[in-house]
Parts: sequence; C-alpha cells; structure tokens
Amino acid sequence: MSEIVKNTKVETPIDQRETFVSLRKSFTESGDVAEKLRVLYALQETDNEIEKIVSLRGALPEEVAQIEDEINALVAKSARLEEMISGYEKSIEENKNQMVEIDADTAKYQQQLTNVANSREFDSINKELENLVLLRQIAEKHIGEARVAIAERKDAITEIASRIEIRKEDLQAKKEELESIVESTAAQEEQLSAKRAEYTARIDERTLSAYDRIRGSVRNHLAVVTVYNENACGGCFNTITPQRLVDIASGRKLVICEHCGRILVNPLAEVQE
Ligand SMILES: [Zn+2]
Repeated sequence: MSEIVKNTKVETPIDQRETFVSLRKSFTESGDVAEKLRVLYALQETDNEIEKIVSLRGALPEEVAQIEDEINALVAKSARLEEMISGYEKSIEENKNQMVEIDADTAKYQQQLTNVANSREFDSINKELENLVLLRQIAEKHIGEARVAIAERKDAITEIASRIEIRKEDLQAKKEELESIVESTAAQEEQLSAKRAEYTARIDERTLSAYDRIRGSVRNHLAVVTVYNENACGGCFNTITPQRLVDIASGRKLVICEHCGRILVNPLAEVQE
C-alpha cells in the first residue's frame, strides 16, 4: 500500500479552494445528506469501474495518437521536399531560357566576326564571346546542381513514402487492437456512463467539483473512501477520531478526512435507484 502516509498533514485540494466548513455547509443545504453520501459512494464505485475499463486499453490510445502525429509530420516533410523540387525545376527552366538567349547572342556575335572593320572591333567581339561562354558554363553548372538536388530530394521522398507506409500499417494494427478492446467493453462502459450521469445529476455542483478535484489530485483516484480496519481512513490510512467515526457510521454527515481531504462514507448505506 503505497498510499500509507503516517502522521503527515497533507494539504488537500479542498484546503486551497474552500474550507471543509463551507463545503459541508453547501452539501448540507442542498438536499438529503444521507442520500447524497450514498450517491457519492456509488459515483466513486462507478468511476472505479470506468477506470478499470479504460486501463484495459493501456498505452494504446497514446500510441495511436503518437503514430498519427508522426505520419502527419512525415507527410508535411514530404510536401516541403516537393516544394523544393518545384523551386529547383523552376531554376532549371530559367537557366535553360538564359542559355537560349546566350546561344542567340553567340550566333549574333559570330556573324559579326565575319565582317569586322578593324582589330579593335575584332577584340571587342571576341571578349563578348568569351564572356558568353563563361555565362553559358555558369548556367550549365546551375542546372547540374539543381538536378543533383532534385535527385536527392526525390530519394528522400521515396524513403519517407515507405516510412509512411510502414507507420500506416502500424497505425492500422494499433487501431484495430484498440477498437476490439473498446468494442468488447462498449456496452458495459455505456451503462456505467449512464449511471455516472444519473449520479452526478443528484449531487450539487460544489460537492461534485470537490469530488473531481480530490479524485484528480490523489494517486489512487479515490475521493470517497470507507473506514479501513475499523478506525483508519481508507484513502490515507491515518487514524480517524472517535467522534468522526460516529459521524461516518451515522451516514448523515459529510465527513472529510483531516489528513488527506477525502470524503469518508459508510459503505453499508445503499443507493436507492
Ligand atoms: Zn485520509
């Protein structure tokens, strides 16, 4: 029993938000106390059953969500790579157009070379031609680089696609596993949820919020507990004072454990359905 905490005054969720007195006051004022205590206990038992069902699913819901996230990330990465490929293709197109222009200019200058007037003109045209050769080489280099980059991106996309396929299969398997567990307990869970709704409707909002708060803050998720071994709190196992034991046994008072803040009830009281 890991919940055993001896002689330690634990700060409870109720301490922080409201006092026991104020909670007890609203509890008492909002209807039949004995009946509400029975409903609270039944609610706790119902929640325990629901928790058991949910725990059967283990880590499957998280695993499914995680694989879905991973697939989405892979799809996004693949889309980014496709975008990059489009960019490189555009660059290849531009460089090709530039080469067409360079070739046209080269032809023009070569034509001019055939009837130059003097050596200065000859030199100047040759300089232009050399420059065009250089520009053509640069354009070719850019095209080559872009093609390499495209090939790399395409390889990466293929790799991602096969990874996506694998993860989709994993996802399908996990989903089927989870669905079969959910299906096998669906009817029971539905009944329990209906019961839970019925019980929560019979408890005032303030008590219900305290119940949820205690449940959320304690490790065993028990907000409503019974007396353990005649005089101890069934939640924290600290000793309960005799007066409180009398109050619990009466089933007519909201008793909260002074050590852990859990609601203590008499389990022999049955809920009238
Ligand atoms: Zn306690």
